[in-house]
Amino acid sequence: MKILHAASECQPLAKTGGLADVVGALPSAQRVLGHDARVAIPGYRGLRERLHKPKLIGRLDAHAQPLEIVSGELPDGLPVYLICNAALFERDGDPYRAPDGREFVDNMLRFSAFCVAVRELALGLDRDTGFVADVAHLHDWQSALAAAWLHEQAVRPRIVYTIHNLAYQGSFERTQFDALKLPPRWWSMDGLEFWGRASCMKAGLVYADVITTVSPSYAEEIQTPAYGCGFDGVLRWRRGVLHGIVNGIDERSWDPATDALIDRHYSAADVAIGKAANKYLLQAELGLAPGDWPLIVFIGRLAEQKGADLIIAAASELLALPAQYAILANGEAHLEDGLRRFAANAPAGRVGLRLAHDERLAHRFNAAADLQLMPSRFEPCGLNQMYAQRYGAIPVVRRTGGLADTVVDATPLTLAAGTATGVQFNDADVGGLLYGVRRGLELFDAAATRAQLRATGMARDFSWGGSARAYLDLYAARPAITT
Ligand code: ADP
Repeated sequence: MKILHAASECQPLAKTGGLADVVGALPSAQRVLGHDARVAIPGYRGLRERLHKPKLIGRLDAHAQPLEIVSGELPDGLPVYLICNAALFERDGDPYRAPDGREFVDNMLRFSAFCVAVRELALGLDRDTGFVADVAHLHDWQSALAAAWLHEQAVRPRIVYTIHNLAYQGSFERTQFDALKLPPRWWSMDGLEFWGRASCMKAGLVYADVITTVSPSYAEEIQTPAYGCGFDGVLRWRRGVLHGIVNGIDERSWDPATDALIDRHYSAADVAIGKAANKYLLQAELGLAPGDWPLIVFIGRLAEQKGADLIIAAASELLALPAQYAILANGEAHLEDGLRRFAANAPAGRVGLRLAHDERLAHRFNAAADLQLMPSRFEPCGLNQMYAQRYGAIPVVRRTGGLADTVVDATPLTLAAGTATGVQFNDADVGGLLYGVRRGLELFDAAATRAQLRATGMARDFSWGGSARAYLDLYAARPAITT
């Protein structure tokens, strides 16, 4: 099969979150299985220079913006198409925001132009290699308008749309829709119109042949008003084509036996010694008191979703527990301030805080962690809890979305069966969080249980193989009838 993935992020070229990890790993896994998977992303600043064998393969205009399409390869051989226009994509900041944190006001134009190029690529713009997509696999709202465009073609690829996070919807004023001169027929209840605004997310939801999201639990949750972000009705309407497939992780870069970013390599055989050595080094790096404290880590974007505010609210109770905390996070200013207060008010050596996005530290945190905390209000899939298990840390997670699907809660039954890997708690509040942390510490303090949870977590298969196959099966399946 010829598969064109389109997204706004792709590791290692551009990353703000888990989307990039998926778009960097899934196509490669599909290539290993014998398929011709390729990726299209916007040509952000400096990316052209980072591709192997870059080559200009075409030009086109979209919304009066001239675009250049450049093909090339990543070091692992994955073919990548960059959609280039310096004014649209080569800006300071991240793919969506200026350095001051404000979203670019022309994001609809930027990603709409990107989607026009994705349509052309899917239909055969790359004449050099004769690539015509059998499947256009679109990820999140930034590539969703390509579903609307492709849906209109008489001969077209199968359109698969993956929701990585329903909370980011690409919702814009009607005036922007009009200014882009998008087909007026798209402005309807069965199209992009969503409560008087233009929703790019909705284009993916209504025009795709198959909708997926990144865990079975999240696929169920988003059909309810509590988690549906207003789209639960549309998603219930399309439930016949909605599937949940859990993300894999990149097991090459996330392997404690070979991880180039950690100091002391280890495997299941020497996990206790290995983690102790990494913890000692991280304690020194973060100014934590040396010693045999259980180390509880939090790594994540500071947004309401991730529940860092619960850590801040539970500060005094958390500090009353015999544990150290290491936090690696950045994002919303009020949460950064709250975490600064948490660290400042803690006794010396008990809280290590880094308000940054730091890939190296993320690896070192996992290698050193005893418990990994994820108190997410919702979590489409989540990756850190899988990294934690692979690195022999015990995940303590809220029972939601992908966290519920990938952490096996330690109950008397799962402990006896030898399948337990962590702790799940129900409530996204201080009580729920404290229950989870106390339970995690209790399991950690019992040496035999600690060893069991570590060994079980480290032995689990979180590779992309199974998920890549599940996507291929969906691509090939007969279209279901939507009622
Ligand atoms: P989301 O995509 O919602 O942010 P995921 O758990 O799916 O959440 O993916 C988050 C990814 O970003 C993980 O690879 C995680 O290690 C990484 N990450 C999050 N915050 C940071 C940070 N401050 N520094 C380094 N890596 C981070």
